[in-house]
Amino acid sequence: MKIREVKAKSILGRSGITDYCVNCYTGCGFGCEFCYAQLFARSHKGEEWGGYVDAKVNAPELLKKEIKTAERGVVMLSSATDPYQPLEKKYELTRRCLEVLLEHDFPITVLTRSPLVTRDIGLLKQFKECTVGVSITTDDDKVKNVFEPFTPPFRVRIGTLKKLKEAGLRTYAFIGPMMPMNPGAVAEAVAPLIESAFIDRMNYPHLWKGTAEKNGMGMDGSFFEKTRDELVGSLRERGVAADALF
Ligand code: SF4
Repeated sequence: MKIREVKAKSILGRSGITDYCVNCYTGCGFGCEFCYAQLFARSHKGEEWGGYVDAKVNAPELLKKEIKTAERGVVMLSSATDPYQPLEKKYELTRRCLEVLLEHDFPITVLTRSPLVTRDIGLLKQFKECTVGVSITTDDDKVKNVFEPFTPPFRVRIGTLKKLKEAGLRTYAFIGPMMPMNPGAVAEAVAPLIESAFIDRMNYPHLWKGTAEKNGMGMDGSFFEKTRDELVGSLRERGVAADALF
């Protein structure tokens, strides 16, 4: 993988999901096939998604400056990369940006696939308003490995949610994109560990239909609707505020 240290021009971006987003990296070491972020990495046109990561090494210093004039609002980490992808272990850019956000009392929401988020539990607990989500796509690692071979397996994601929950943090699951799974088993595993869940199909067929079909996993509209309904039903039965995004 090509790793570059770069200086970003800005770091506190506006977000359509929350008020702001902070992306300390361009690219993502997890390299999921379905990732929409690959569509926006203009400076890396033609390079393989997952084959590069730019670490914005000035992100914390830039955030310190930009936050001084920003109106208080919810910050998402991250919207176009995984804030706890493998390189974060070395660079700690997400961690240092969290320290800045904490100092200025900005509310945050974190979304990751990685158990590395548990490193920062002590810091996350200090926020007055903080939610932490883990992305889940399937309970079947053979299916996961077709589309996201470099991400942690299902049991590790469940273990991550468990640690976050046990630490007293407010947790959620982002279940998307839905892949072939046992929806009841997914709901049973995550429900005790989360307050809410968001369910989505994401970029199918645009980015990953070819691979799905090549591997005998073609998913059509009825697959997504059926799986969505089963997940929403099972999660709500278990007291989770579950919402579908389509
Ligand atoms: S972990 Fe998230 S940001 Fe990274 S490649 Fe996968 S979907 Fe994209």
